[in-house]
Amino acid sequence: RLAFVDLQPPDPILGVSEAFKRDTNDLKLNLGVGAYRTEDLKPYVLNVVKKAEKIMLESEENKEYLPIQGLEAFNKATAELLLGADNAAVKEGRVATLQSLSGTGSLRVAADFIAKFLPGTTAYLSNPTWGNHKNIFADAGVEWKWYRYFDAATVGLDFEGLMEDIRAAPEGSVIVLHGCAHNPTGVDPTREQWQQIADLVIEKNHLPFFDVAYQGFASGSLDDDAWAPRYFVSRGMEVIVAQSYSKNLGLYAERVGAINFVLADAEAAKRVMSQLKRIARALYSNPPVHGARIASLVVSRPELFAEWNEEMEYMSGRIKTVRQDLYDELVKLNGDKDWSFILRQLGMFSFTGLNPAQVENMTNKHHVYMTKDGRISLAGLPSSKAAYLAAAIDDSFRN
Ligand code: PMP
Repeated sequence: RLAFVDLQPPDPILGVSEAFKRDTNDLKLNLGVGAYRTEDLKPYVLNVVKKAEKIMLESEENKEYLPIQGLEAFNKATAELLLGADNAAVKEGRVATLQSLSGTGSLRVAADFIAKFLPGTTAYLSNPTWGNHKNIFADAGVEWKWYRYFDAATVGLDFEGLMEDIRAAPEGSVIVLHGCAHNPTGVDPTREQWQQIADLVIEKNHLPFFDVAYQGFASGSLDDDAWAPRYFVSRGMEVIVAQSYSKNLGLYAERVGAINFVLADAEAAKRVMSQLKRIARALYSNPPVHGARIASLVVSRPELFAEWNEEMEYMSGRIKTVRQDLYDELVKLNGDKDWSFILRQLGMFSFTGLNPAQVENMTNKHHVYMTKDGRISLAGLPSSKAAYLAAAIDDSFRN
């Protein structure tokens, strides 16, 4: 009966890790998935996570179901971390926060909400964007379209194109924005540009939907990385924000995140919350508890919070160092090409400009695994391999 089902190609990002595992060459390097590695290429469990887990073990927490909306302490901590503890919207009780299955699950709950309560509304995604955004909105039954974002000529932001497309979108559209460290380009609007985007979003009565997957991990500062969504909230509009603790707390497999709806008043927040719960109940019933306990402990205990900030600065600092190493090595190999885009890009990724055939050369000849769009995750690059990677990139560009 199911013989007609055809083969789905591997996921463009997670499929890269599958191919990497099959490669037996010692030189192989996995720069596909955005996951932090130490200088020895080992996954990194944060010290604060180990400390929180020790506290949890000692207090003999049970494994009862969480409420549909998740762990209360986590939801409070995560909204405050995102918007600031003294944020007016938080204080006035007009933020509906539901713990969900990391960034992806949080995005999906909101996409289902949009499909249900704003039928016919189109979600506008930056071109390019994290590959899963398209799947999430499409599977939820929300039509999506591109807005211009990346300018290949300047390896920077196509701000005019972005503004034109957001202006041309029908009033009341959903505009999906990356809170910081845009994935895959590493190119963010400046604060002045964010202000102009906010003006336009207000003028067009659009609904801004921030995806915040790198708070604290991009710059090392939780406040700086949350500037854009906080600014939009300060302008008095309704805002949706998805959060993930995969990168900043290294809780990839624990699936810790939240969806926040910032609304006009506490009554609206209560009603939206009841609907988010209805959506989550049918999708997965209630979220997992372990990672949410870790995150709420780390955020709420001052000594853990301070140490977490140090560890984030350490991780983002290491990424900045290898970014510089890669740049220096590339300049040594080919001083005629302008490599400065590598230093300008923010966050864990570099968008190299390698085309799909050149990416194939990177993988087939040099055993460097990366996504077809030319993105490499610098979080997976040790300094000791920067020269090797630079040689592979230089060779591939000459291909
Ligand atoms: N949004 C963006 C932009 C991302 O880069 C990621 C992770 N790569 C996510 C969301 C979601 O990741 P997770 O589901 O692990 O939180």
